[in-house]
Amino acid sequence: AASTATFVPDPAAGQAVYDADRAHVFHSWSAQGQIDPLPVAGAEGAYFWDYEGKRYLDFTSGLVFTNIGYAHPKVVAAIQEQAAKMCTFAPAFAVEARSEAARLIAERTPGDLDKIFFTNGGADAVEHAIRMARLHTGRPKVLSAYRSYHGGTQQAINITGDPRRWASDSGTAGVVHFHGPHLYRTPFYSETEEQECERALAHLEQTLVYEGPQTVAAVILETIPGTAGIMPPPPGYLAGVREICDRHGIVLVLDEVMAGFGRTGTWFAADLYDVVPDLLTFAKGVNSGYVPLGGVAIGAKIAETFDRRPYPGGLTYSGHPLACAAAVATIRTMAEEGIVEHAAQLGETVIGPALHELAGRHPSVGEVRGTGAFWALDLVRDRETREPLVPYNATGADNAPMADFAAAAKRGGLWPFVNMNRTHVVPPCNITEAELKEGLDVLDEALTAADAHTTAGAGAATADAGGTGA
Ligand code: PLP
Repeated sequence: AASTATFVPDPAAGQAVYDADRAHVFHSWSAQGQIDPLPVAGAEGAYFWDYEGKRYLDFTSGLVFTNIGYAHPKVVAAIQEQAAKMCTFAPAFAVEARSEAARLIAERTPGDLDKIFFTNGGADAVEHAIRMARLHTGRPKVLSAYRSYHGGTQQAINITGDPRRWASDSGTAGVVHFHGPHLYRTPFYSETEEQECERALAHLEQTLVYEGPQTVAAVILETIPGTAGIMPPPPGYLAGVREICDRHGIVLVLDEVMAGFGRTGTWFAADLYDVVPDLLTFAKGVNSGYVPLGGVAIGAKIAETFDRRPYPGGLTYSGHPLACAAAVATIRTMAEEGIVEHAAQLGETVIGPALHELAGRHPSVGEVRGTGAFWALDLVRDRETREPLVPYNATGADNAPMADFAAAAKRGGLWPFVNMNRTHVVPPCNITEAELKEGLDVLDEALTAADAHTTAGAGAATADAGGTGA
């Protein structure tokens, strides 16, 4: 396998890759004329490198999917073996890699989520979960949270509660948004986690009353909302949502596309809250993104609905053997190498304490949130007012503070996850403690660049530690 040890810099090759990209690749979520994608020559473990030979420690896990890092030799070998044995096969057949992946996933999902419907990724898993909920209940509506991300396909983007809104959204027919708990930036008056939890549950109940619970098929939530800011829910919230759904005969869908498969230091985030949904969506970490794969884990009640009634939906590549072989190898590797426990331990003893320590020294850090290998820093211009370091959807000069932060991180060899006014610390779950510390040192320098844009101003890096949340 390629590695930084053997890589020979080749800037001309990098330029050719870049030129062809800019001439022909239409990038997602981007203004095509304003992007400058880095040509990547290779990746291994927690690192990737460019054609100049500059190496970056990846604190993003790609898009939060390389839970076992890049190019893990056991998974690469499993994909090669599967390709030689049976590269592809249609979904209607029983295929070893698919059967085994389903068995291993069902063994780990909470409760009675024992049937696995495979998709190609997260958004289509969400689409199918919603379809299953509508068919199971015979009801049309779906409730989902503001500050959420559920995918970029038509139904999934409508369900997504993102502060951006797009003309391509086909309205929100049958989709109603509610305000989940988020004490640090709640639009309401809660002052404690308990109050915010109570507020959020009462608000959900009220939303249901006004929508007519008999018209609502599903409530869908990210167990820990990820893209919108890694916001672990307060104790009791998910159990409360479960109770509300049960009382009204509504399907509870937990979306664990980002939070699942070790990211939170447990196999699934739901394990942290002792809640069993009726449907659970997954993707990303299921096979570290080596081959596209996602799916819906289905509880017994909904599975029974489709025992004698055909499920109307599927994809040509559902449960693709290469993707499933990668999942089998990933799950086995995570179990053999204790990667889930490692992520839990890193969160508790390294990442959490280090981020709180940084918050004590950097006035740009408003709040630290997270668990396992799943953390966010909410960056602010002012800790008292909690004004975000950049406005939502800032571009150009308005986004300079976050651009300066990111540039400083990259200069130091750290690739940061940046979304609006936040940086997320989401490294591979098997990153070593030494690699992590190297990255946290660079993060320290990058936060100094962010501090220069706070009201406390440059040189205020020794400001008091007040105002940081847990
Ligand atoms: N659901 C959640 C919680 C996600 O974080 C994402 C992607 O980030 C998706 C769904 C969509 O997954 P995909 O991009 O694989 O379609």
